[in-house]
Amino acid sequence: MNVNINLECTSCHERLYLTKKNKRNHPQRLELKKYCPRERHVTLHRETK
Ligand SMILES: [Zn+2]
Repeated sequence: MNVNINLECTSCHERLYLTKKNKRNHPQRLELKKYCPRERHVTLHRETK
C-alpha cells in the first residue's frame, strides 16, 4: 500500500523530498512542514505527482 510521492514547497514550488506514504492512512494529499533549503526556513510542503 505504500507509494512514492514528491513533496513540493508551497511557497517557492521547489520539489525537494521523495518520500513514501500509506495510501490507506493518507488518502488525501499530504501536507508537511519541512525545511526549504532555497528559502532557508521551514515552509509547508505538499504532495505532488
Ligand atoms: Zn521553498
